[in-house]
Amino acid sequence: MRKANHYILSASFIFISFLSSAQKKASVDPIDGFKSEAIGDLQGKYADYKKIALQIWDYAELGFKEVKSTALLQQTLSSSGFAVQAGVAGMPTAFIATYGSGKPVIGILAEFDALPGLSQEASPEKQSAGKNAGHGCGHHLFGTASVATAIELKKLMDEGKIHGTIKLFGTPAEEGGSGKVYMVRDGFFNNVDVVVHWHPASSNAASYSSSLAVISGKFRFHGISAHAAAAPDKGRSALDAVEGMDFMVNMMREHIPQESRIHYVITNGGKAPNVVPDFAEVFYTVRHPKRDQTQQIFDRVLNAATGATMGTGTSFDYELIAGMYEVLPNRALSEAMQKNIEKVGGVNYTPEETAFAKKIQASFVSKPPSIESVASVEPLAANPDVFYASTDVGDISWVVPTVGMGAATWVAGTPPHSWQAVACGGTEIGTKGMMVAAKSMTLTAIDLFTNKDLIQKATEEFKKLRGEDFTYKCMLGDRKPALDFAQ
Ligand SMILES: [Zn+2]
Ligand SMILES: [Zn+2]
Repeated sequence: MRKANHYILSASFIFISFLSSAQKKASVDPIDGFKSEAIGDLQGKYADYKKIALQIWDYAELGFKEVKSTALLQQTLSSSGFAVQAGVAGMPTAFIATYGSGKPVIGILAEFDALPGLSQEASPEKQSAGKNAGHGCGHHLFGTASVATAIELKKLMDEGKIHGTIKLFGTPAEEGGSGKVYMVRDGFFNNVDVVVHWHPASSNAASYSSSLAVISGKFRFHGISAHAAAAPDKGRSALDAVEGMDFMVNMMREHIPQESRIHYVITNGGKAPNVVPDFAEVFYTVRHPKRDQTQQIFDRVLNAATGATMGTGTSFDYELIAGMYEVLPNRALSEAMQKNIEKVGGVNYTPEETAFAKKIQASFVSKPPSIESVASVEPLAANPDVFYASTDVGDISWVVPTVGMGAATWVAGTPPHSWQAVACGGTEIGTKGMMVAAKSMTLTAIDLFTNKDLIQKATEEFKKLRGEDFTYKCMLGDRKPALDFAQ
């Protein structure tokens, strides 16, 4: 009898515990349920996305020449049911992939261009892969993670869990070509409610920071050629003009705001020392945290070019190549994204990846953070900081509330635009980090599709920061995309 009672008691206890866990399950926020499913689902497709990213890494195509990379991303989206509009805003490799209808319209950015001269094998030692470019900024991961996000959101939409429109923007030539700026100028972001993006990094966190506005231009000097020894007085050297301009700009550095940046490369300095060069070209980039200051400094650089021609008896013309706004950060969106990154978590290395990471870190000139730091998520910045680089996301962030994040695709301490960044991007160190971004962006987009208040709060903040009288003015005027800028 006692025994029987005991059984009855145990059975009812089990029943009660079953009930309470079922009740608990029923009380779980359905949005959290979608989020957990999305994380699992994306992880299930890791092998597919890794393959796409490594293929684009291998293509390593320069800005506006990303023919194969854009085709692969477009094909992945169209075979998943997206309507793809290719060649937008006068750029053959730009595209917009759309799915769904109605509000909200959530934009996702995808980059895929490589950098010149950064050829590198997926090796922890510096070793050229024999190409003319490499993915030193991880845009192969950027584009692939964003495509993964869009496809996962479409699945949720098909299941009736979220409603609205997904717009993936395939944005070429981020590295100096201002691809996104032309898309903004041509109105492709006009009906978008929020834009979500990310960038490869060596740590994980939502970005609550601005960036540097930038203007770049190619200065072309024209002189008179002559025999450099027999008739130098008959010649006028275009290279002298370049050197004169560079000298004056280097003097000028002392007399510009200290947070400015000016850099240049001489892209053509003549062909032979015994011929006075009748043509020379120098490519300048000017940056400052504010676009109006950037413009003022660029105008002074322009004056240095004029001065150089007067002193050397030459002439010049110049071509504006890039012009980008500083990023307008958004607190409401960054906080939402940060929570999602914390839910997803960082990257854990296998023993082989740790060994690779140690070798990479041994090549650094300054002491890096610990290798394990990529497993955690950095805290969100309390106040907006300035990231000392530029991005054409800047222009978008002034026309649509925009949020971005960094995911650790590179070994801790890796500088962007380095051979080490290219090397990491060609391994699972890169592709695992890419999945952190894909998952975190998906979760953030789920918040945006399911929480009108978040969009409203973000939009109010955006309008307040931008100012009542703001009107967007493209820094590139009406020039056509510089399709041949990258060599
Ligand atoms: Zn870059
Ligand atoms: Zn980049």
